[in-house]
Amino acid sequence: MSNPLIHDVVIAGAGPVGLFLACELRSAGVSVLVLEKSAHPDSPLKALPFGMRGLSAPSIEAFYRRGLLAALTPPKGPAAHWEMQARRPGGHFAGIQFFHDKIDTAKWPYRIAGPVPTSLATTMQQVESILAERALAMGVEIRCGLGVESLEQSDDMVTIRAGGDSLRARWLVGCDGGRSTVRKAAGFEFAGTDPEFTGYSIQVVLEDPAQLAVGRHYTAAGMYTYQQPGTIAMVDFDGGACHRSEAITLEHVQEVLRRISGTAVTVASLELATTWTDRAARQPPTAKAACCSPGMPRTSTRRSAARA
Ligand SMILES: Cc1cc2nc3c(=O)[nH]c(=O)nc-3n(C[C@H](O)[C@H](O)[C@H](O)COP(=O)(O)OP(=O)(O)OC[C@H]3O[C@@H](n4cnc5c(N)ncnc54)[C@H](O)[C@@H]3O)c2cc1C
Repeated sequence: MSNPLIHDVVIAGAGPVGLFLACELRSAGVSVLVLEKSAHPDSPLKALPFGMRGLSAPSIEAFYRRGLLAALTPPKGPAAHWEMQARRPGGHFAGIQFFHDKIDTAKWPYRIAGPVPTSLATTMQQVESILAERALAMGVEIRCGLGVESLEQSDDMVTIRAGGDSLRARWLVGCDGGRSTVRKAAGFEFAGTDPEFTGYSIQVVLEDPAQLAVGRHYTAAGMYTYQQPGTIAMVDFDGGACHRSEAITLEHVQEVLRRISGTAVTVASLELATTWTDRAARQPPTAKAACCSPGMPRTSTRRSAARA
């Protein structure tokens, strides 16, 4: 064993959940090591336009309580298509938009009244960099390019294999996303619903952009949003068949875009592309993790819904 050092908690994943948790644990005086699989957490998909994230009230309140809300400045860039609508959008659920004037916060009895807004736009890049900066300032160690590969549990310890090395910790928390290695290795259940669609976020150069109408459009074949000059999100109801099953090529993107938009639009070049689905799953609340008595498993995964 090349590294016998024992941390109180090792967190797998330096996404928003892992980083926020790291800060919370450090506030309680716990020693924390975060292992992040990606060597370079900065990704163009975390910046505008695709890194745009609308924060919900509980997330905004969490940033406020920790004195971090002021650091979340509005993203700088061209106005998104929904910002140009006459009615202020309140958000969307699976592409079904709802409007701010229809939200009655008085119907949220669980919410403690406070000075913060109920919605806020930011980017993944900003959320992660604010939280990473705070974590490092608090003494959290973050090692990038080191993904958790496997684990072994004993009564009072978990041994973690990462990057061909071994680490020991009292607890391991899986904040490693929707396809969590920790969840699978620890045998946590993850139940939910299968995808109905493949979603595409693409940055393209169009030969004939006038063929597409700006904004959000529901068509007989799916849904697309178009923002000039070449930012497109689209939803193809294929049961998630094209998500991560093959390379996203220009030809494929053009075929899907033509079919969904009902146009003969031509994609001259494909600059950036990613896919996602509406698969929704969660770890049941009965998970093994919540107990800290000796003899109980020493791993935990976050108990929230995850997309994959
Ligand atoms: C297209 C899209 C739009 C979205 N829009 C919104 C929105 O507007 N508002 C909103 O609140 N949410 C939105 N979400 C959801 C939001 O992005 C996620 O809920 C959030 O990123 C989850 O954070 P996380 O830290 O749990 O996981 P992630 O952000 O997935 O981070 C997991 C981290 O773990 C790392 N990792 C993976 N495997 C390992 C391993 N084996 N070992 C170590 N590290 C590992 C990954 O590299 C990653 O850095 C959106 C998601 C998508 C796909």
